[in-house]
Amino acid sequence: MVNFLIFGPPGSGKGTQSVRLAEKFNLLHLSTGDMLRAEITAGTDLGKKMSLIMSKGELVPDEVVIEMIAVKIDSTKGKAGFLFDGFPRTVAQTVALEKMLNERGMKIDSMLVLDVDHDELVKRLIARAELSGRPDDKDPKVIENRIDVYREKTEPIIDYCSKKGLYQPVNGVGSIDDIFVRLAEHMSKIVR
Ligand code: ADP
Repeated sequence: MVNFLIFGPPGSGKGTQSVRLAEKFNLLHLSTGDMLRAEITAGTDLGKKMSLIMSKGELVPDEVVIEMIAVKIDSTKGKAGFLFDGFPRTVAQTVALEKMLNERGMKIDSMLVLDVDHDELVKRLIARAELSGRPDDKDPKVIENRIDVYREKTEPIIDYCSKKGLYQPVNGVGSIDDIFVRLAEHMSKIVR
């Protein structure tokens, strides 16, 4: 099993690239953002509770996303491993993920971090709002908050993973195809 984290600020292209990479490398793509939006669409109690937090661009509680991942962690049947997208988003989530993987004889094998400058992120998210219909993409204040939350709560994971030799930065500016090739090149060094 080989397990990747795909990382980067909101608008860095994690979701788009993850779908393609998961297919190429036969990985199970787990996006906590997608799982949370599915709860909202299904109108579950959890979805109702989380939608206000998400619409403000804040993080939902660690326990909520850790539990979502915990119920999926035994579903790698037929897959080469996991591609975690938008999870972990805090150091506490990272520690919880490592524990779940270690208990199953697995680990985080690499963390791919998409580098995209601030202005490009804002431009992409505003453009995406039209297509996604996501409330958190529409409001420039919410976009700025999501980027701030990323810098404050999520970026420390880079340091944590760097110390373990897992950090792999990737230029996230360019065409979708070019960025895909860059990511795939790094991943193919790890996947056998
Ligand atoms: P983006 O990367 O564009 O911000 P996501 O789809 O990954 O989009 O996440 C959307 C929102 O869902 C986040 O702003 C946050 O409120 C919530 N969320 C998703 N994943 C997590 C997580 N691992 N921890 C806490 N909140 C999360």
